[in-house]
Amino acid sequence: EQHRIIMDETAIRRALTRIAHEIVEKNKGIDNCVLVGIRTRGIYLAQRIAERIHEIEGHPVEVHELDITLYRDDRETSADAAVGNKAAVNVKNKRVILFDDVLYTGRTIRAAMDALMDCGRPQSIQLAVLVDRGHRELPIRPDYVGKNVPTSKQEQIEVFLREVDENDQVTIIH
Ligand code: 5GP
Ligand code: MG
Repeated sequence: EQHRIIMDETAIRRALTRIAHEIVEKNKGIDNCVLVGIRTRGIYLAQRIAERIHEIEGHPVEVHELDITLYRDDRETSADAAVGNKAAVNVKNKRVILFDDVLYTGRTIRAAMDALMDCGRPQSIQLAVLVDRGHRELPIRPDYVGKNVPTSKQEQIEVFLREVDENDQVTIIH
């Protein structure tokens, strides 16, 4: 088993700075935008991007977290997650920008979109990921990508973020 570093702290910082600028450019500012991070590491990415957008635009942007565990199509469903999210995220007529660490089959994002739709009708949903490792099983593509990393299905991406890990680093295990 080999671990190879594909993004170090500097590369992650630069990628997030670029994505913050891309979000501001694509949305012609940040009015009416809400950043929504998917638990666990998506939330930290959303928070970091929000800090940068605040610096760029001079005013804060809303950040929320989304619990989609119960929306996965490989799990039993329950109304509990929907209720929790409804209380937390008002997405009606908002431009929602979803954040996750790694995009793979797309099933997590499909579940996240289901959860969001239960919170109201957003104006639009955009997707930002730190790593796109390919192998989509649904017609989902990210609007903002930190790094495209072609992988085999056997390989694994490891994402370390300082909020929960020792440092900022992305590695590939093969
Ligand atoms: P998907 O639902 O697109 O198949 O997988 C994406 C979700 O599973 C994300 O929430 C991501 O955190 C996790 N995931 C899938 N593949 C990987 C991987 O190679 N490394 C990491 N760290 N997470 C992954
Ligand atoms: Mg995840």
